[in-house]
Amino acid sequence: MDTRRLFGGIEAGGTKFVCAIGTESGDVLERAEFPTTAPRGTIDRALAFFADQPAHGALAAIGIASFGPVDLNPASPHWGYITSTPKELWRNVDLAGPVREAFGLPVAFDTDVNAAALGERRWGAARGLDTFVYVTVGTGIGGGGMAGGQRLHGVLHPEMGHMRIAHDLSADPFPGVCPFHGDCWEGLASGPAIEARWGGKGQELPAGHAAWELEAHYLALGVNNLVCALSPQRIILGGGVMRHASLIPLVRRRALELLNGYIQTPEILDHIDDYIVAPALGDNAGVLGAVALAMEGIGCR
Ligand code: ZN
Repeated sequence: MDTRRLFGGIEAGGTKFVCAIGTESGDVLERAEFPTTAPRGTIDRALAFFADQPAHGALAAIGIASFGPVDLNPASPHWGYITSTPKELWRNVDLAGPVREAFGLPVAFDTDVNAAALGERRWGAARGLDTFVYVTVGTGIGGGGMAGGQRLHGVLHPEMGHMRIAHDLSADPFPGVCPFHGDCWEGLASGPAIEARWGGKGQELPAGHAAWELEAHYLALGVNNLVCALSPQRIILGGGVMRHASLIPLVRRRALELLNGYIQTPEILDHIDDYIVAPALGDNAGVLGAVALAMEGIGCR
């Protein structure tokens, strides 16, 4: 008899939802993805995915890794809600409640990036670490991670993409795309920022295009700030923009230049290739993060 415990994972993204049934060893047994449309219809599709999978047996818990901002305060009546997102239809939407009501299972909830960090720690690029950062660079920039083995929460949750970074307007007059801040990190270095600045999607720009040196400069500025603020043991850079193969070596080189020898640790000075890394879980990083969240929620070691 197969005694593996099974967990549900929901990666709730701003453009698509990914649902999966995963095992304790990080195997994905079933997976489905569909576009993020109106809340009710999208949540119903996620519920239907789990209701349609009785063959694998009962789930022990479900984890939800959500785009944000979200309410993570367990004492709040709006715990499990997406709150003040720029996506109007999804403002103040209860995501965790319908899942809990439908299945009567423990439901764990966190940001997509904190969950992805948890998945990378359990099965991927952050194994054995207790203080590290996971940053995704795509339609936005988001960051999560752990400090001392605890997920980063605090007063809300980190919004690393909205850090203010140095912006030399004479070298790059582009004003940025963030509706709140203009030229914050996300405003200068997200996928939509690349497209608006250069007039073409990142994946259409060849290696060697000036876009990549500038992108690496901005990403390295943010990385530099994270190194100095959190002293992480590793920084994982994922998301669609990072799929451009020439980018991560440029970020490593620029980060070393910007740190300028100040942080005297061999992890950075001698092993930058192991310090700034890609996610190990690839396209399943998000949904496996949700599975890891479900496991963590019921105390799985
Ligand atoms: Zn911003």
